[in-house]
Amino acid sequence: MDPVRVRFAPSPTGYLHVGGARTALFNWLYARHHKGTFILRIEDTDRTRSTDEAIEQIFASLRWLGLDWDEVYRQTDRFDRHREVAAELRRRGAAYESEGALWFRVPPGGATTVHDLLAGEVTVQHTELKDLVILRSDLTPTYNFACVVDDHDMGITHVIRGAEHLNNTPKQLLIYKALGWLPPAFAHVPLILGPDRTKLSKRHGAGSVLDYDERGILPEALVNFLARLGWSHGDQEVLSRDELVALFDLPGVNTAAAVFDEEKLLWLNHEWLRRLDPYRLADLLAERIVARRVAERAAVEAVGREKLARAAVLLRERGKTLVEMADRARPYLPGAIDLPADAQDLFVPEVASSLRELATRVEGLADPTAHGFEAVLRGTADDVGLPLKALAPAVRVAVSGSRVGPGLFELLAVMGKEIVAARLRAAAAEAEERRG
Ligand code: GLU
Repeated sequence: MDPVRVRFAPSPTGYLHVGGARTALFNWLYARHHKGTFILRIEDTDRTRSTDEAIEQIFASLRWLGLDWDEVYRQTDRFDRHREVAAELRRRGAAYESEGALWFRVPPGGATTVHDLLAGEVTVQHTELKDLVILRSDLTPTYNFACVVDDHDMGITHVIRGAEHLNNTPKQLLIYKALGWLPPAFAHVPLILGPDRTKLSKRHGAGSVLDYDERGILPEALVNFLARLGWSHGDQEVLSRDELVALFDLPGVNTAAAVFDEEKLLWLNHEWLRRLDPYRLADLLAERIVARRVAERAAVEAVGREKLARAAVLLRERGKTLVEMADRARPYLPGAIDLPADAQDLFVPEVASSLRELATRVEGLADPTAHGFEAVLRGTADDVGLPLKALAPAVRVAVSGSRVGPGLFELLAVMGKEIVAARLRAAAAEAEERRG
């Protein structure tokens, strides 16, 4: 068998959305699995609707997803070749001119059958097809024609694309036949539907790939999610890029439509956040904290990479996206935090004075580890005669502004002595002030 050559052929008329990204991914996975070639072909022949900005967006989206291409083409660079093949069709009597455009003549009798690797056999009677324009009057080629010329010239072995193109395939097969060319294999991937089983809408998943980045989704998670939209491997949900490359093949692609499930994407994202190397996560979190103006870059740098990695490990227990993690990162960064308005019940007078005592002991703590913080908290509670379960919640709210969160001693250790002591004192002072 010939080495696999596949292509992703987006029209740069808008951003890359989930459907396009899945097509790109399936082609990329197929190429990598079979050690073949993944080609990116920008189908910009419709010059009124194509924009350079959309091309940049497509490149950026594929890069973010980690779908690297081996060859790249712009269809507009190939106009001469398209015109040459159009002239050849005309010479063969398969095309004719009318109203300034060049038309492909659909043979009058008979039928054309697509042998699709996923959709099966699809037969169309020629009487159902109309002649089609292949060169517009401005000499630009149309999609169905340029697609055939380029797939042929680029040695494409498998055309893997969305099911919305299945209607085009008989016309394309007729053009191959008229030129005496062998067509590639076709695999039309079933549509992606919204949760209500209607066409995917903006509200459900039809947004751009880079919007997911914006929302704090990891590329690992989106790739995993897209792969599972219409392809499965038993009941394994979490699959790495390497596993996908090893396992993906066309026979595993479902023949029924896939349903977009936002909850599942968030679940997968959480899974991937948990699997990420803490230092990589710390770097992503640092960027996000600055981008979302949770803190200045200087404050993030003051914390340092090691502490930030430990904070990230705590934040990912509850945070399902990088955005949620960043928005909850404030307590780990230097500076004051806001106490909740309803925390008075925690800061009764004996607790407030104990927080001061604790602050002094924390400042002198020789072993500022989770273990060390636990010892100093227990010791203070004993000495001031308060149960730990009265002191601990007040400490948590004083340092983090929240009643819930990760294990308290690890939280304190990650924050460090300085931040903890300052916030304990500030909480004690505020409690007294609120009481008036
Ligand atoms: N430019 C077409 C699109 O974006 C490509 C279709 C194909 O893969 O042949 O839908």
